[in-house]
Amino acid sequence: MISQSAILFIVFVYGALFGSFLNVCIYRIPKGSSIVFPPSACPVCKTRIRWWQNIPILSYLLLLGECSSCGSRISLRYPLIEGLTGILTVFLWRREIPQISFLYHFHTDLLFLLNLIFIFLLIVIAMIDFDYQIIPDELVYIGVGTGILYSFLIHDFLFSLLAALGASLFFYAVRVLGEFVFLKEAMGMGDVKFAAFLGIFLGVKKVVLAVVLSFPIGVVMALGLILLRLKSRKDYIPFGPAMAFAAFVSAYWGPELLTWYIHFALRV
Ligand SMILES: [Zn+2]
Repeated sequence: MISQSAILFIVFVYGALFGSFLNVCIYRIPKGSSIVFPPSACPVCKTRIRWWQNIPILSYLLLLGECSSCGSRISLRYPLIEGLTGILTVFLWRREIPQISFLYHFHTDLLFLLNLIFIFLLIVIAMIDFDYQIIPDELVYIGVGTGILYSFLIHDFLFSLLAALGASLFFYAVRVLGEFVFLKEAMGMGDVKFAAFLGIFLGVKKVVLAVVLSFPIGVVMALGLILLRLKSRKDYIPFGPAMAFAAFVSAYWGPELLTWYIHFALRV
């Protein structure tokens, strides 16, 4: 009998491998290159990365964060995304798959899988928006497709559709208002489309909470990025990462947060 911690370790390894693939997506999708071909190479010296240099997290440690051919630094972000994806996969597994009986519950497994795609999309969208200030349409389409399937499974399609329309309209209004007040683009069309994906996946209540949370999270993120000198005050600071984080919190802790807030509000 395989122990529970061994299973979680295997789930983590799979998650980290997915994380490695997400790194490829983040790097290649904005450039319009294929995500499967050619095999990964060092961006500086173009030397092909061998399989043993491509093991999530471990390879970064073995190579001491440097390309073995030219010695140029490998971004710490690669192992961080791999580790994060691994941890989130374990988190979802523990949350969605109750026992070791995962082979027998197709419905449970499908929900787990759709949630996994949801989280992966949030990571890729947040990072691409951070790097390039764009949210690629194809990722939003995959998100909407996944969200529609998900909403059917939890029998909430019409309300999810309403949530998608509402969230998009709201961000569109913020966009128009922002342009009117600041005389420049404050909210991109990418954010408006991203909101539709979040709405269809989260449903009415959770997307309202995500939208409410995204603004303070956005402010904290912007301040953090400026303090850490990852962005300067003159830079355009993308809103996608804040939306993604708010959506994640709302998706998995939304009901708890609302209960806590109601208790808090009643006491004051
Ligand atoms: Zn190199």
